[in-house]
Amino acid sequence: MTALTETDLLARVRSQLFIGGEWRDASDARTLDVRDPATNAVVKTIASATVEDGAAALDAAVDAFESWSRTPARERAELLRRAFDLLQERKEEFALLMTIEMGKPLAEARGEVVYGGEFLRWFSEEAAHVQGRYGANPEGTGRMIVSQHPVGPCYLITPWNFPLAMATRKIAPALAAGCTVVIKPAELTPLTTLYFAQLLQDAGLPDGVVNVITTSQSGAVSEPIIRDPRLRKLSFTGSTPVGVKLLEQAAGGVLRTSMELGGNAPFLVFDDADLDKAVEGAMAAKFRNIGQACTAANRFLVHRSVAEEFTRRVTERVQGMRVGRGTEEGVAIGPLIDDRAVAKAAALVSDAVSRGASVRTGGSAIQSEGTFFEPTVVSDVAAGSDILREEIFGPVLAIVPFDTEDEAVALANATEYGLVSYVFTENLARGQRMIERLETGMMGLNMGVVSNAAGPFGGWKSSGLGREGGAEGIHEYLQTKYTLTPNPFA
Ligand code: NAD
Repeated sequence: MTALTETDLLARVRSQLFIGGEWRDASDARTLDVRDPATNAVVKTIASATVEDGAAALDAAVDAFESWSRTPARERAELLRRAFDLLQERKEEFALLMTIEMGKPLAEARGEVVYGGEFLRWFSEEAAHVQGRYGANPEGTGRMIVSQHPVGPCYLITPWNFPLAMATRKIAPALAAGCTVVIKPAELTPLTTLYFAQLLQDAGLPDGVVNVITTSQSGAVSEPIIRDPRLRKLSFTGSTPVGVKLLEQAAGGVLRTSMELGGNAPFLVFDDADLDKAVEGAMAAKFRNIGQACTAANRFLVHRSVAEEFTRRVTERVQGMRVGRGTEEGVAIGPLIDDRAVAKAAALVSDAVSRGASVRTGGSAIQSEGTFFEPTVVSDVAAGSDILREEIFGPVLAIVPFDTEDEAVALANATEYGLVSYVFTENLARGQRMIERLETGMMGLNMGVVSNAAGPFGGWKSSGLGREGGAEGIHEYLQTKYTLTPNPFA
């Protein structure tokens, strides 16, 4: 099979809204441009949904709900399984599309197809395993039935940084549970979701079960959908400030919500760590996705006795990283998503330096058509620096030395976020203490990556509500009913 060219691939991706099984233009014919962040070139112009289009998408999801929720679980499972199989066949196409619209290196985009695909496989397996309970009440006067029911039509909002996986992580459990959805991808990277909707159609998706609206007016289009009493669930992945705003909108209808929000992950390296493992873990936890992951290590807290050695070794590795367009061979660092991301990384580095930090390598934006920032290491970052408080969302590794375990724990927990923490120690008891002491929804213990479809992904504190993946994931889309009936022998 000959590989598709970028032009051929982009021509295959639909440029319209997907509503009720049909592809249609925006009601006012408005469009939005999608750019390649490595070149700033417009790669495709697509429909930009209006408030009316949003309403039409919700109508379609509401209309399809009754039939889909009654479709046998095995049939829903088989649809997801066919989608998984088709994704394997189209792996290269999805990987290339993500590299074009989001900028991640092709090898990482292939990794995302594997990761994103696993949610289809996992939830195709989970769909047939939803069970209830039946039993006598303690008094013996009745029988108690506990059953699970799909929550209803859902609105799914996804960010730009993992265009495929954030969509499958929501669509797969929703469909497995018997829910219908409207999904709104980020306007910066909508093409992957459109192409995924085409794949679902090819897999036999019934009309209206998944509807896709792409728009440059996210707030205006989303609010009426969220406030519509027919909507029963909102699942959002994105920044904490937007998540808070959406929770306020959802409160009016007491909507079920799942919120996968921002992070500020600490990466702890103790004096008893295996430094080879810690350096390897640091490279993955920091530079995967060009540092643009909610799970990206944001603060490297390193015991003072190993801080210099750790800094020297990660600096050496970072100096060897090739920067360029993600399609080029050997590129480890692609562009940041836009100008604002570059300006933010530059401002965080300069604030840290003004408070006494040293730049060990990198530190600046790269002049080019695209939005590139040098992979960077800054050491001796002082308390109070912005870089320790804000999500960096770029390839900047910031190191803070510490002296005691208590100090490390206090520093790690000194954030409103609690998504993930990384701990490197060869001391089992210390590792167990970290499991108990760190305020975090997930933890990598001598591991720099935790994401897995079988694990319950999600955060504590301002990092969110609910879990995606694992045995928990499908329950975000189910609601419980308890029924009491008389003792049939009484
Ligand atoms: P963002 O909050 O700006 O946007 C996320 C989505 O919300 C996009 O689709 C956007 O169009 C939409 N949106 C923005 N304003 C809206 C509004 N007023 N009403 C409705 N929708 C609106 O976030 P982003 O920049 O796309 O993504 C980066 C953020 O996402 C980071 O904070 C990152 O940590 C977080 N993130 C979290 C997870 C997780 O699982 N916890 C995963 C990936 C990304």
